[in-house]
Amino acid sequence: MTAPFARLSDDDLATCVHCGLCLDACPTFRVTGLETESPRGRIYLMTQWKRGTIAFDEEQVKHIDLCLGCRTCEAVCPSGVPYGRIIETGRADVEDIRRPSFKRAMSRASLRQLVGHPRRLKAAGAAMRLAQKLRLTSVARSGRMLPPLSPQYGAPAAGIVPAIGERKHRVAFLVGCVMPILYPQSHEAAVKLLQLAGCEVWFPPGERCCGALFAHNGDLEGAERLREANMRTYDAGTFDALIVDSAGCGAHLKDFYPGLNGRVKDLTEWLGEVGLPAPKREVQMRVTYQDACHLAHAQRIKKQPRDLMRALPGVDWIEMRHPDICCGAAGLYSTLEPAMSNRILQEKLEDLTATRADVVTVANPGCQMQLAAGLRQRGSTMKVEHVSEFLMRAF
Ligand code: SF4
Ligand code: SF4
Repeated sequence: MTAPFARLSDDDLATCVHCGLCLDACPTFRVTGLETESPRGRIYLMTQWKRGTIAFDEEQVKHIDLCLGCRTCEAVCPSGVPYGRIIETGRADVEDIRRPSFKRAMSRASLRQLVGHPRRLKAAGAAMRLAQKLRLTSVARSGRMLPPLSPQYGAPAAGIVPAIGERKHRVAFLVGCVMPILYPQSHEAAVKLLQLAGCEVWFPPGERCCGALFAHNGDLEGAERLREANMRTYDAGTFDALIVDSAGCGAHLKDFYPGLNGRVKDLTEWLGEVGLPAPKREVQMRVTYQDACHLAHAQRIKKQPRDLMRALPGVDWIEMRHPDICCGAAGLYSTLEPAMSNRILQEKLEDLTATRADVVTVANPGCQMQLAAGLRQRGSTMKVEHVSEFLMRAF
């Protein structure tokens, strides 16, 4: 075992000047008003733990658990605090010394034994689909949150799909872990858009989960093992860019895979660069957009998805209040911290329903599931679509 708090960096922690400018942007501070539930409070707590001036205390770990890891604080911090790295390393340090809990042990085991293994995950997806057919998934909260499952997205047997028209680029595509099970239609639309943009799309054989959920959950060793396996696969191929249509995975790949040398691109970032052909159809819909935290704050991408969607003929665009505040999904957070997740979600639903939009678009499967479940519960007819699906409406 490593020394307590060995991963947390003194230099990272010292960048915080305690100005408090991040407080109003932090979703957990906004709903509680508590310093302990703010970025400044969490940085202070971890700093004192590391220095040994405050004894590690199981009760106070709750403040670290309640952080969504949304990185809104990082985006607004004038001092350049690398909060994403601080919370990931801090969580990994905390996991070494905290009292074991059944819930956390289960989440780590399900990540390591299921999510990290594509075949097992595929089998679990098929079992969940069957359970839905038999109406067995409505008992547990996590089961009620699931979208109606259709057959999983599978990479083509040839491992490649051609560009439509002239081939201008060759891109790799991250199929990922839960997205092909939960939202296969988002991947289908994303790949079609890439083809329309003149890209040959390569599906790296043997590619596994990128490890984002592991890292966000404090399992950096698990994330490193997946990175090693994936890098062997990526290094065996040639591609101009690795395209990702899930914001959490994209942010993780950009931060955690230096070997990819800046070639990771969010789908909207890439389409913004290479362009789409002229739309074929009008999209007569009122549409709003929920910024995924790991796209807006971690990758600083806000303009490209908006530009792409607003360019479609017929679109009636409406911004909601605070589109870049977290919806409370945050990977496993909605399962591990359901009460806080729901408080944050309810504020988001108020902003969302006030837009009277026909559809809210998203760029991350966690946001899609959280918003859809919340809207369903309120009896709203507003649709939730991935940006890729929405863009395909025009082609
Ligand atoms: S994280 Fe940044 S914005 Fe927040 S208190 Fe520290 S220096 Fe100020
Ligand atoms: S990552 Fe999000 S929830 Fe955590 S402290 Fe920063 S703003 Fe607050």
